[in-house]
Amino acid sequence: MEPVDAERARQLSLFRPLGYQHNSCGYCKSEDGSASYYASSQVVRPEHYEELVNRGWRRSGTLYYKQHLKRSCCPHYTMRLEASAYQPRRDQRKAINRWNKFILGPEYIRKAAYLCPRSREEKKFRKCNFDVQAAVHESEYSHVKRPIDPSTKRAIEPAHRFEVNIEGDSASQAKYELFRKYQTIVHKDDPSRLRIKDFERFLCSGIKRSPTKLTKSNESEKKLGSWHQCYRLDGKLIAVAVLDLLPSGVSSVYIFYDPEFEQWELGKLSAMREIAFAHENGYPYYYMGYYIHSCQKMRYKGNFRPQYILDPESHNWDPLDGELSQKLDTRPYVSLSRDRFSANTDDSSSSVGLEKDVDEARLSLFDLNMPGNLSLEEVEALDLGNWHLLYHGAFVQMSDLVNWEKMKFNDPQSIKGIIGELASVLGPEVVRNSAVVLFD
Ligand SMILES: [Zn+2]
Repeated sequence: MEPVDAERARQLSLFRPLGYQHNSCGYCKSEDGSASYYASSQVVRPEHYEELVNRGWRRSGTLYYKQHLKRSCCPHYTMRLEASAYQPRRDQRKAINRWNKFILGPEYIRKAAYLCPRSREEKKFRKCNFDVQAAVHESEYSHVKRPIDPSTKRAIEPAHRFEVNIEGDSASQAKYELFRKYQTIVHKDDPSRLRIKDFERFLCSGIKRSPTKLTKSNESEKKLGSWHQCYRLDGKLIAVAVLDLLPSGVSSVYIFYDPEFEQWELGKLSAMREIAFAHENGYPYYYMGYYIHSCQKMRYKGNFRPQYILDPESHNWDPLDGELSQKLDTRPYVSLSRDRFSANTDDSSSSVGLEKDVDEARLSLFDLNMPGNLSLEEVEALDLGNWHLLYHGAFVQMSDLVNWEKMKFNDPQSIKGIIGELASVLGPEVVRNSAVVLFD
């Protein structure tokens, strides 16, 4: 690995290993149902996060985690769709048409039909086709046609002024208040637990953003990192979609909105807007986060088609519809690549998870059979002695640690064991471009 000068340091992502942990499941409420590997970071670069997402990781604020899919009651599968191939369903088209009608209002629509009528071709086209991009922008104030009404000598105005802007993921009083309102009313959260600090950590501490500040000259540059897409109605903030923009994809992190607008299905509308945004700005994929097949509430994600699921072992993408979906109906853990391999070689040994009564806390991650991780042999081949370690603000190498050579990767109590586990979950590409934070 290259030595770290100031320029190289700026290109690195940092990870603090937190280790493997069991936790209760938020979906089926089982007490010990889920297990994940965790790391935390204040500095993750978008291209590295993309690599992690494509290995099954996700972030919540500054906490990064990857679930042990075989060990979990409600396995979290990474899903994505090709933005250009998206085919909106009838209910999705209806939701956006309804919203546009509400924003424009009957009076505007009537006058516009008269003052700037659509051509016959346009009408015919609209009848047979649904253009997602056009529909998403139709009621945005900057796109609304405002011809002069001869009877009043003034431009006609829509019923509401609707604006959507993308901003850095920093906190503001208006965003925080909207977040509190949304969490307490929609998710019934205890308001005393929703301090601005928590809001900042959860939704305003994303991955590295570029450009760091938006100006007139860089406005059209491809954006990367964590952003807030802010929806304003008549000047008032009504929704914020938190987005991670990656080199090849838009990842939806969260959305919170004014519950007074619940009837407009803002979750559905924002997903359509983000797909259009991805398509228009050169991000091929749209990531809707994890998909949990057993969770009824999650099924709506599968309605954005065609959807693909990350194979937990081969890291290929398989269509959700068809074989995969049918298999998920019958068992929680599915890896199509594993199924095919087992069918060809009659190997079923490694598809079996651990016995429930094994005390996993005392085992090394290398013994836990967590899908998609590097094996002990693969980690040993990585030359981790040269991996960077950020130690009291300076970069050193792992091999500088006392007794590095003597320690073993499969000893979970040793520093080398902790480092090896982190490398095993991050994968080779991110290891090459990162540093570990341990003692600070
Ligand atoms: Zn569960």
